[in-house]
Amino acid sequence: METLWQTLISGSSDFTLYALWPTIVVNITWLLSGLFCLWLDSIPSLRKYKIQHHVNETVEFWRVIRHSVRNKLISEIPLTFGSYPFFVWLGISKDLPLPSITTVLLTLAFCLVVEDAWHYFAHRTLHTRWAMDKIHYLHHHYMTPFGMASSYAHPLETLFTGFGTVLPMLILRPHLFTLLVWVVTKQLQATAVHCGYEFPWRPSRFLPFLVSASFHDRHHRRFNRNFAPNFVWLDRLLGTADEKNLGPRAAKAK
Ligand SMILES: [Zn+2]
Ligand SMILES: [Zn+2]
Repeated sequence: METLWQTLISGSSDFTLYALWPTIVVNITWLLSGLFCLWLDSIPSLRKYKIQHHVNETVEFWRVIRHSVRNKLISEIPLTFGSYPFFVWLGISKDLPLPSITTVLLTLAFCLVVEDAWHYFAHRTLHTRWAMDKIHYLHHHYMTPFGMASSYAHPLETLFTGFGTVLPMLILRPHLFTLLVWVVTKQLQATAVHCGYEFPWRPSRFLPFLVSASFHDRHHRRFNRNFAPNFVWLDRLLGTADEKNLGPRAAKAK
């Protein structure tokens, strides 16, 4: 692993390592995980795990892909490129040795907690009347979310909530390898809560403090509940949680 890493970093500029790599890995993850969710829709035996009956038309997927790519070019990629000088300036290391698995896991846990808090309050701000009318209405266009729709948002929303992904990097200054694992993890979590399926083997069943697809799916239908992206505790603590009748076919449950 370390030999492979040394080969990858040797001869690469800081821009390639700290700006291009995070951009490439996060977008490959978005595309592949979104396509995986799309593929799930083609398997009839999995329909019983769908949270809502409705299945979006293929034309909607193309619409979301077109919009998301434009949004990424306007906001997500400039945010990553704008963060890279700070990553270098703060001394985020690219050199060997690679961090241990324990260090990576502890860093991921910290990142999820920090990002969750930032995203929760940013998301509630986006639900004020002005921000909802001008910005956040786009993400709520789909009351039946699906994997790729995780990036279906206004560019200002992506910048605002996306800063929560950068923030723990600025605080902890982890190794570049951990930074890449973090952005992939965050994208996978975003796709998972928008996938529209509640499987029996979902992580939130065994770790009930994690946000599930049903939990965020309810947000797309009720708007003023379930704001957090990763953990349920802030919604529970601040009285915005709605966890009644979550699960497959719970669309009509209030
Ligand atoms: Zn959403
Ligand atoms: Zn919302």
